[in-house]
Amino acid sequence: MENYIENGIKKDIVSFGYEELLAEMERIGEKPFRGKQIYSWLHEKLAEDFSQMTNLSVALREKLDGMYEIKKVEVAARQISKKDPTEKFLFALSDGSMIESVLMKYDYGNSVCISSQAGCRMGCRFCASAIGGLERNLLTSEMLGQIYRIQKLIGERISNVVVMGTGEPLDNYDNFLQFVRMISDEHGLHISQRNITASTCGIVPEIKRLAGEGLQITLALSLHASNQEKRRALMPVANRYELSEVMAACDDYFEKTGRRPTFEYSLVKGVNDGPEDVRELTALLSRRNCHLNLIPVNPVEERDFERPDRKNALAFKNKLEKNGINVTIRRERGSDIDGACGQLRRRYADTKKEK
Ligand code: SAH
Repeated sequence: MENYIENGIKKDIVSFGYEELLAEMERIGEKPFRGKQIYSWLHEKLAEDFSQMTNLSVALREKLDGMYEIKKVEVAARQISKKDPTEKFLFALSDGSMIESVLMKYDYGNSVCISSQAGCRMGCRFCASAIGGLERNLLTSEMLGQIYRIQKLIGERISNVVVMGTGEPLDNYDNFLQFVRMISDEHGLHISQRNITASTCGIVPEIKRLAGEGLQITLALSLHASNQEKRRALMPVANRYELSEVMAACDDYFEKTGRRPTFEYSLVKGVNDGPEDVRELTALLSRRNCHLNLIPVNPVEERDFERPDRKNALAFKNKLEKNGINVTIRRERGSDIDGACGQLRRRYADTKKEK
C-alpha cells in the first residue's frame, strides 16, 4: 500500500487499520496488547507524539519514533464565525501542503467537513478548489487528522462527517475507503457510517466499486445540471461519463446499500435556474427515492458565476416541491469566514504569491 513505504522512510503509523497495526507490531516483535494500546493512543486518545504514550516503556516509545511517523496535521489558522456556530480550520501538513476543514455545530451534534485531496483535478467551472489543480492525494492519516485535531481542540465529540471539502474522494479511492473504515471502527472514534456522507462529481466506475464495499455511508452526487449538455459545460468529468450512466450508478448504489442518495445542485443565475431546468430535473428525479439539495452558488473571485436572488431560488425550490421532489435549499453558514468551498485555502495561496 502506498502509505507503507519502507526503504529508510518512516512509516505513516496512523494510516494502519486496527488489525493491520496489531500485525505490524507483532512483526517488529511486540506483543499484541501493545498494538492495542498504541492504536488506542492514536485513535481514541488522539496522541500527536509517541512521548505522550505514557503506558509504554521509554525504550518502546523511542523504537516507535525511530520507525514510524505520526504525520503532522497542524492548525495554521482558525476562524470562528460571528454569524453562526461554524468554524473554519486551515491545516499545514508534513510537506507544507495546506488543506481546510469546516466545523458546523448543530442541535444533533458536531459535523466536520473534511478535504480528501490537496487541490483537485476535476476542474468544475464554479469551484475555487479547481483553480490550482491537484497538488497530491491526502493520506488516510491526514483525513483522520482533520477530525482528530478539531475534536481535541473543541473538547467535544464529532458525530458527523461530510467529505465535501477540497478534492474528489473517489479520485483517492484506497485512502478514502481506509478512512471510512477507520473513522467508523469501534476501536477508534466509532462514528456511525450512517452519519458519514461522501460527495462525488460522478466517477462512474468508482461509484460502482463503492457500492460493493458493504458500507452504510450516504453518497452525495454533484449533479448541478438537468441534462448532459449543460452538465458538460459546468463539469469536465461529464465528458467522460454520460448523465444516464451516472444516474444508473447512483441507482446501483441505492439498490446495493439501501442508502438513499443526495443530489447536489449549485444554483447559478441564468445557467441552470430556469423553468426548463425545473421540468428536466423533475423528469430525472421524480421516480427516484432521493433528496435534492440546492446550493445557491458561492461566487468565486476568479469566476463570474452569480447566484440567483433569494426569491428566485425559493420559487425554483417550490416548483420542484409541487412536482413531488424531496428538495431543500442548503442554509448558508460561515459566509463571513471564507466558509465556502476552498476559499480559505485559496486566500492563503494568494497571500503567499504576493510575498
Ligand atoms: N469533489 C466532490 C466533493 C468536493 S466539492 C464533488 O464534486 O462532489 C463539494 C460540493 O461543493 C460539490 O457539490 C461541489 O460541486 C460544490 N461546490 C464547489 N464549488 C462551489 C461553489 N462555488 N458554490 C457552490 N457549490 C460549490
